[in-house]
Amino acid sequence: MSSQIRILPEHLCNKIAAGEVIERPASVVKELVENSLDAGASEITIEVEKGGRRLIRVIDDGCGMGREDVFLCLERHATSKIASDADLFSLRTLGFRGEALPSIASVSRMTLRSRPADSEAGMELVIEGGDIRRAEACGMAVGTSIEVRDLFFRMPARRKFLRRDETELSHIGDVVTKIALAHPAVQFRLLHQGRKLVDVRRNEDLRSRVTGLLGRSLAGELLAVDCSGAEGRVHGLVGPPQTSRATTGAIYTFVNGRTIRDRVVQHAVMEAYRTLLPKGRYPVVVLFVEIDPAEVDVNVHPTKHEVRFRHQAQVHDFIADAIRKVLGDSSWLLQESPSQNESSPLNPQGPPWRTPAGGEVAERCREGVRESLDRYMQRRTDVAPSVPGCSLIRMPEKEPADNTAEAANGFFSGLRYIGQYHDSYLLCQDGDDLILIDQHAAHERVGYERLRQGWRRGEIERQQLLFPPVMEFSHAEADLVKSHLGHFSELGFELEHFGGNSYVLKAIPQILARDDAETLVRDVVDELGRLGRSSLIDEAVDRVLIRMACHSMVRANQALTPEQVRALMRQLDSIDFNAQCPHGRPVMHRLSLAEVEKFFHRS
Ligand code: ADP
Ligand code: MG
Repeated sequence: MSSQIRILPEHLCNKIAAGEVIERPASVVKELVENSLDAGASEITIEVEKGGRRLIRVIDDGCGMGREDVFLCLERHATSKIASDADLFSLRTLGFRGEALPSIASVSRMTLRSRPADSEAGMELVIEGGDIRRAEACGMAVGTSIEVRDLFFRMPARRKFLRRDETELSHIGDVVTKIALAHPAVQFRLLHQGRKLVDVRRNEDLRSRVTGLLGRSLAGELLAVDCSGAEGRVHGLVGPPQTSRATTGAIYTFVNGRTIRDRVVQHAVMEAYRTLLPKGRYPVVVLFVEIDPAEVDVNVHPTKHEVRFRHQAQVHDFIADAIRKVLGDSSWLLQESPSQNESSPLNPQGPPWRTPAGGEVAERCREGVRESLDRYMQRRTDVAPSVPGCSLIRMPEKEPADNTAEAANGFFSGLRYIGQYHDSYLLCQDGDDLILIDQHAAHERVGYERLRQGWRRGEIERQQLLFPPVMEFSHAEADLVKSHLGHFSELGFELEHFGGNSYVLKAIPQILARDDAETLVRDVVDELGRLGRSSLIDEAVDRVLIRMACHSMVRANQALTPEQVRALMRQLDSIDFNAQCPHGRPVMHRLSLAEVEKFFHRS
């Protein structure tokens, strides 16, 4: 029998490699920009069209390639970055596999132009599906420009997996953000159809870089970490707990300048915040781990997202301790959100956490005082005092006029209220039965149903904010906000563009506490970012309404007056009730007399 095994032809190998490394336009951007950085570029411009599927062009002012190298770089496993086995364990460059360019070239139409400093002219190569079609000298500045058109042009199966342009663009934005965070000395510009999405100058420090990429207000709040030890060095900026997000999207971690998504590092970060953040919240972290290259293997994953540390546990604890130290040291511990700051609403010094310095800070102080005062006055008249640690509580102020009368004869209103147990449960009697109601779950259900009804009718009640906060977003988030302004408005949030990536939050749903509103807007943006398709908006809306209800309602551990209990009962009767809070927890539980008697051995 003749041999069945054959060595695959080069072009097929390249396509297979492309399958691993090139998943979507953002992967191309990552590979090209990393090459530019390895080439020592100080200015990198990325231009994309149609989310990168029509065009990706990366232009750098790096070292360029000579006449031979422009051909060689398209060969598989051709690299200038390593030469021997030993080099693999002392990597200082982002690339080393020599696979990216041949892979990308094999699945696109590529034009590569490059000129080294010691040459008068550059070389231009036109490649289609991996075949060189044309090669000629060209005039150009020193550096390299690589243009990738029609990604996956002969691969309908791969193309089918691409999402809509906005989603692909947001992945590209994410890649550029991560790389730009790690290289503050380099200028980056990202343009989509000619519109500038990222524009950060060269030679910045990390905080200015974070300002340019993630927004000024956030950057101002981040705490600096810098810790050296036998394990290496951990440095960067971390957010105090109140800047937390609903997703891990704002955790940026780097090992030796490489952006990674590593389990050990991620866990260490979360460990540092363990007691500081509620479940389901994630911090804002921009963290660099510098470690002896011999102590970390980056060659475990083709896209180099994961790494392997030789001493995992030590690295883990080193990172967690470094973060915990700044979180522990810091004044944010004194910092309560104004709503919790019951004791000093009249404090003329303003809230204790802001040292009244420059004009802006002083203004924020005064604002804080005014708002605390407003809230304080309002709370005195309409709500029960909150328990420390709970967020601001707003009892629904008005009954819906239309169904109150009918509601008054409903099941809940008909119950005989016995009293409150543990400030959390309402005990009632229905005929012979004992009814236990979870007040928090009940309020959530009421809030959710009302929001949903309001949303369906297109009339979620809003409150205009007296001091509308300016919210800054990353460019990707700002894009989401922009394309979903209508949805925000339907949900009761009025956002108005304020230049750059900023929006003013002018109105919020009536049902929300002011402090929770900004967090919620960010959560909604995160949520929208996670969902690629707009057809999923309706599903998202439901989750947002649930979250809004959760943010707005009476928590457990709150004493309620009998009037408040009666109001709650009427509200429960006024909604389409299925005895579950929107999280699926039960709202009430019924114990029959027989059950109670059985328990006491009386039958
Ligand atoms: P790797 O980066 O793993 O070496 P690539 O396929 O990405 O593999 O690139 C192959 C080689 O082409 C690099 O090693 C480098 O010598 C050269 N090269 C690629 N991009 C550039 C660039 N922008 N400027 C200068 N040289 C480049
Ligand atoms: Mg490379």
